[in-house]
Order: sequence, then C-alpha cells, then structure tokens
Amino acid sequence: MSNYNWCHGPECHTQQTQSRVRGSGDNKVLRTIKIKQGRFGGYQSELWTYFCNQRCLFDFIRKHITSIIAIAPRRDALETPIKVKKEKYKSYRYEFNSGTNNETRRVPYQATRTTLESK
Ligand SMILES: [Zn+2]
Repeated sequence: MSNYNWCHGPECHTQQTQSRVRGSGDNKVLRTIKIKQGRFGGYQSELWTYFCNQRCLFDFIRKHITSIIAIAPRRDALETPIKVKKEKYKSYRYEFNSGTNNETRRVPYQATRTTLESK
C-alpha cells in the first residue's frame, strides 16, 4: 500500500500555486497535490489524507453531495433524551449613569439559568 494519496479535490490541479508546478522548460503543468499519510500528526486523518485543504474538501462535497447523502440518507429526525434543569439565582445588572451623581449602579435581580444534562 502506498503511503500517500492524491488530493481528491476535483479542481486541485487547476489552482495556481507554486507548490503544484511540475515539469521543466515549456512543459510545465499544475499537478494535483500528493498527500503523505499521517501528516498533521494524524489530526483529523479521516479527512486530511484525502484532501490537501478545505477548498478541495468542499469542492468535492459540492460536486458529489447527492452521492454522499445516498450512502446514509436521513429520513427521520433523530432524538437524544435530555434533562432540562432550570434554577433561579441572584445576579446583578449594571445601570450606567443612573445613580444620584450619575454613577453606575449595581442592581440585584432574580436570574434564571437553564442547563441541559445528559440522561
Ligand atoms: Zn487539493
């Protein structure tokens, strides 16, 4: 098995960057980027071993979105059980220039905090 892939971006070989220039004299070409496996220390390797950059990734997605969706179509909404917790707590807001000498006042009020917890 080779230790590299050619970028799968459909327009990769048309982007005018010096890193894509190959050949000599009057026979120069722009070539698809060769991607070494394990680059970026394996960071998001499921993506970045096939695409040299985000533009190539999104060019590929735009071109093949219908086929990609057909692999795993979603016909119904998915749901995750969740617990919604509401709690009241004392907080403060600031009223600027509202004091007797136009100073900022710190005014207490009853605040509500909503948090989501996994079930
Ligand atoms: Zn590319």
